[in-house]
Amino acid sequence: MKNIADLSEIDASNVKCVFFDIDDTITTSGKILPEAYQALWKLKENGIKSIPITGRPAGWCDHIVRMWPVDAIVGENGAFYFRIDENSNFIKRYFFDEKIFKENRLKLNKVSDEILAKVSGTALASDQNYREADLAIDFCEDVDHIGWDKVDDICDIFKEHGAICKVSSIHVNGWFGDYNKLSMTKFLVNELFYEDLNNTESNYIFCGDSPNDEPMFEFFSKSCGVKNVIEFKDKMDHLPSYIADHEGSLGFAQIVNTLLKKRS
Ligand SMILES: [Mg+2]
Repeated sequence: MKNIADLSEIDASNVKCVFFDIDDTITTSGKILPEAYQALWKLKENGIKSIPITGRPAGWCDHIVRMWPVDAIVGENGAFYFRIDENSNFIKRYFFDEKIFKENRLKLNKVSDEILAKVSGTALASDQNYREADLAIDFCEDVDHIGWDKVDDICDIFKEHGAICKVSSIHVNGWFGDYNKLSMTKFLVNELFYEDLNNTESNYIFCGDSPNDEPMFEFFSKSCGVKNVIEFKDKMDHLPSYIADHEGSLGFAQIVNTLLKKRS
């Protein structure tokens, strides 16, 4: 495991883009505080791109990429990316074609039925209707926290069905297909920046907070956690390289301000 360093030690001289998770990374108690939203505008004003990498659904991602000051978005833990190109065309790129997503949806419906029957207190995530590829089970967003043992039970059911399963700070997300946040981010970087991210990862920062960010924490040398990532430290094999002093929105704002200060 990497040693965790203080954020002040990060080398930000060549950073061209900030990737960031949304829930509990740029939010605090479910809201984007002004400091975090302002940080996105600051990045834009300083010519640094910003791209959310989230488990949130396609319906939300459509809104976000149109209305927030961001350059693209990876959604549903890597099932797709959306962006608007220089000619104002809305670009949607998926890991699978529609036929496979539909086949997988039928399989996920069976998983969903089993989880809801066997794990009490849980529910389909409220944003499930806006999802295209994955199944999101709510364990503490709109239900009372069901406890970590039951979160593990949910993961076990996903795995018994051969699905991939990732735990965020609010949902357990599961899907069929060999993709995650990192694989779709590599695909996006190739199409948007014409780069092989395996060779250029040091030009990017990633900010996250929870186990579904682990592939990104492991890959990016400049991976940053907001302070609340510590809550998950015993549930993760890969922690970020740097940790902010603050949680959620204020932690994200601190990361962006540190980056901008070091570049000036
Ligand atoms: Mg999160």
